[in-house]
Amino acid sequence: MDLTADTHIQYLKGVGPKLGDVLRKRGVGTVGELLEWFPRGYEDRRKARSIASLEADQIVSIEATIINVRSVQMGRSHRKMYEVIIGDTTGKIACKYFRVPYRGYFERFSTHQKVRVAGKVTLYRSRLEFHHPDIQPIFEDDVTAEDKLIPIYTETEGLSPFKLRKLMEVAIEELVAKQKAIREVFPQWIREKYNLLTRAEALKLIHQPPPQAGEEFLNFISPAQRRIIFEEFFWLELYMTIEKMGIKRESAPAFLKGSALAKKLENSLPFQLTGAQKRVFEEIYQDLCIPHPMHRLVQGDVGSGKTLVAFMSACVAKESGYQTALMAPTEILAEQHFKNAEKFLAPLGVRVGLLIGHLKAKEHREICEQLANPEIDLVIGTHALIEDTVEFKNLGLVVIDEQHRFGVEQRNKLKKNIYPHFLVMTATPIPRTLAMTVYGDLDISTVDELPPGRTPIVTRKTFASKRDQVFSFMKEQIDKGRQAYVIYPLVEESEKIDLKDAVSEFESLKKRFPDLNIGLLHGKMKSDEKDAIMNEFRENKIHVLVSTTVIEVGVDVPNANIMIIEHAERFGLSQLHQLRGRVGRGEFKSYCVLVLGYAVSEDSIHRADVIESTNDGFKIAEADLEIRGPGEFLGRRQSGLPGFKMANLVRDISILKDARSAAIELVSIDPELVKVENSLMKAALREHQKSIVG
Ligand code: ADP
Ligand code: MG
Repeated sequence: MDLTADTHIQYLKGVGPKLGDVLRKRGVGTVGELLEWFPRGYEDRRKARSIASLEADQIVSIEATIINVRSVQMGRSHRKMYEVIIGDTTGKIACKYFRVPYRGYFERFSTHQKVRVAGKVTLYRSRLEFHHPDIQPIFEDDVTAEDKLIPIYTETEGLSPFKLRKLMEVAIEELVAKQKAIREVFPQWIREKYNLLTRAEALKLIHQPPPQAGEEFLNFISPAQRRIIFEEFFWLELYMTIEKMGIKRESAPAFLKGSALAKKLENSLPFQLTGAQKRVFEEIYQDLCIPHPMHRLVQGDVGSGKTLVAFMSACVAKESGYQTALMAPTEILAEQHFKNAEKFLAPLGVRVGLLIGHLKAKEHREICEQLANPEIDLVIGTHALIEDTVEFKNLGLVVIDEQHRFGVEQRNKLKKNIYPHFLVMTATPIPRTLAMTVYGDLDISTVDELPPGRTPIVTRKTFASKRDQVFSFMKEQIDKGRQAYVIYPLVEESEKIDLKDAVSEFESLKKRFPDLNIGLLHGKMKSDEKDAIMNEFRENKIHVLVSTTVIEVGVDVPNANIMIIEHAERFGLSQLHQLRGRVGRGEFKSYCVLVLGYAVSEDSIHRADVIESTNDGFKIAEADLEIRGPGEFLGRRQSGLPGFKMANLVRDISILKDARSAAIELVSIDPELVKVENSLMKAALREHQKSIVG
């Protein structure tokens, strides 16, 4: 039987039923999918080294003997770290694991065993060590131990690296040798213009680097790797390009030019708009006057005044006879926007409504009636806005605040039968290159200026052992009439341990400061409880608000000038910056104290340094992206970002740009992909689309 990329993996020579199961569990169902299991690195056996000769940041492979395997409790947390100490005649080095690759991973090892260890040498507290290296027992049958680059695949239980490499060999022999079995989706002109190997050539090289392969393979910049990375980006860019074109063709209401109402709002403000606010509003306004839907992302650092820009846009909608829906990620935030809208917009005759989940059935019904009549021009709410029972009379503009909490799906749900304009606002600034990838279907405006007169927040990191000093500093501020936030991490709303931390902190603060009013806010509370606490805090009846990250976005209490973030090491950089943005909103000098837990890594300290050293959200976002990678940075589920197999948005930006221009060029020549030379492309896009939008 002739093998193709679509052949069931079971039929590959050397794959029995048991191994077939192992592979399927790992998402490999066909021979083609096996070939897309890319090495996560290469081991350069041409320069096996001694431990004494290792230097920081080298990617190396060494042969050594296991001296000890042990697990260590990390600080007070419930997590464990594993340590494998290895040695050769020249010295010893520790291999550290902060998570277990799979159950039984460490049980495979015994002392005196000979192993090969491959990974990056890391300097930690002036010592060299490996973090999560690849450790393999050296077996007699591993005859590949010659002088070449050996691909390293992510460890899988039930499949030794040796066996996997053998399977790859067979698959390549079967498929790549018979070129027709590997589909080439790119037309000749794209391959020539962008200097791309064929897919078959690339796959072979990636799994079997030639003997002369150099550093470029180790660094994933070889032509073979470039071809695969280009293709991964290409699907995403092609999808975005076609999507964007489709949106531009839809029709939407064209709003009136020269809005008097927006001007009136501007004149009624107790302050001047910043130049950036004016410019961004102009950019939005131009879109709104075109009879095609706007899809615009407004990004701007915390406190840059995005809400007002949205309010001005709502004025234009109202004047043009359309309704606006403003959707916020939390009820707290929705209510805050509602209060501001009542303050700024109601006096101008804009009728404002609030629609959130916990309204009584009657109130809910009333709001819905008012929306249908229509007696509401601007409705502010949460997810409740996208329920099917909510009918608008003539929805013309949808504003989504803090985009990163919303998925594409929800965005689409708001389209309903007519197509409103979309304005998406985010305070998690995204480096431009990444933004154009993730939001390739959106136009982008940036509010790159803060209102004048803000004193920058002073940020300091400290350690849990200094907590007493931190709290007495907090007390001083409160004695001056200010208020404080104390933030606890709550990674998942369901993590009971974390919640207990916040609650016990709350109890211990009450004991520590019996004369202060201390409030507690967390995601498990009912919304009216949350509201009550938030209102008391706003009215300065609560001095210290202990909170989990529910406070993260948008909340505005100018009198609060100090924020203490416990276990700061557990937050992402952008999240810390967001949190910090809750203070520094008034006239008072503001402080943010990052309290690092016990036994934090050098890395965590470095991250805290970044926050300490800059207040620029864009710089922080770039650093965050670099440290965590795009998947985690954006939060995979919300981002709509496909999991790339080889591409890396930080490392491969220039390839991304090429893929993007190729996609745009292709679509401009053949918008519907109907040309014969693009037929494979069209089918492949449909397949990839699932991973992009799904
Ligand atoms: P964000 O961009 O983080 O959503 P907000 O819209 O919440 O920021 O604005 C933060 C605060 O700044 C609000 O209290 C708002 O009234 C105020 N503000 C907005 N624009 C200006 C301005 N041009 N000058 C002074 N204060 C402003
Ligand atoms: Mg905001």
